[in-house]
Amino acid sequence: MTPRSAGPHLCDLSSAEVLTATAGRTVVWPVGSVEQHGPHLPLSVDTLLADAFARQIAHELNALTLPVQSIAARSLPQSGGGLAFPGTIHVRGGSLLAFLEDALESLCALPWHRLLIVNGHFENEPFLFEALDEVGRRPVAAGKEFLALSWWSLVDTDWLAGRVPLFPGWHAEHAGLTETSLMLYLRPDLVSAARPDHADPPRPGVYLHPVDVDRTTNQGVLSSTSNATAALGKDLFRHVVAAAVALVSEGNGLLREETS
Ligand SMILES: [Zn+2]
Repeated sequence: MTPRSAGPHLCDLSSAEVLTATAGRTVVWPVGSVEQHGPHLPLSVDTLLADAFARQIAHELNALTLPVQSIAARSLPQSGGGLAFPGTIHVRGGSLLAFLEDALESLCALPWHRLLIVNGHFENEPFLFEALDEVGRRPVAAGKEFLALSWWSLVDTDWLAGRVPLFPGWHAEHAGLTETSLMLYLRPDLVSAARPDHADPPRPGVYLHPVDVDRTTNQGVLSSTSNATAALGKDLFRHVVAAAVALVSEGNGLLREETS
């Protein structure tokens, strides 16, 4: 597996080509963020990872890719360090939801059959799912399938337990062991030598205000990074891509059978 191999980009097609080229196909749309990821990783982690997963999945499914959407939902203190750290750029939830609905409705004008959204940013998930649920009810989406997933949702619990024994929960993996490992595999040129650990990861599903970011994080890291390796990143990348391809190929028994 070559991690940066790509399926064809939908936007590289001409207007004269696009109807024929997309008819009945699968389109993969990566969505990430511009968000602080500690002192050792760039702001682009969620965007780069979503794009890398999407390109590889599209390659294996003979699908088309859309350009990655990088500016998205707000970073929150218990799952991303929040807005206390410079460089985190976002839009408010209402704006994101309206953007996603408009973009999805416009995209539905093309004759593709299935859209797969690959998400790389924890806080995007409810907005993506709501937008798809809304647009999926509209006439323009008739006959189309939507799948959306956050890449970490495809990681098997037992598989992970064998590799990350003290797993803190995905909300706290922000800038942690798994994202650092994936970046060491995919873009080591963007990873610096610092490996901060935070001994007391926040609980999932809890919001606090005011919050002391120096207690909630260690320099923006919510859990640990010190055992991150490119080898773990490679295994994780392959694991997620295989699960995504299986999910799309088999429908996992969840998608409704075509009746007409
Ligand atoms: Zn991230």
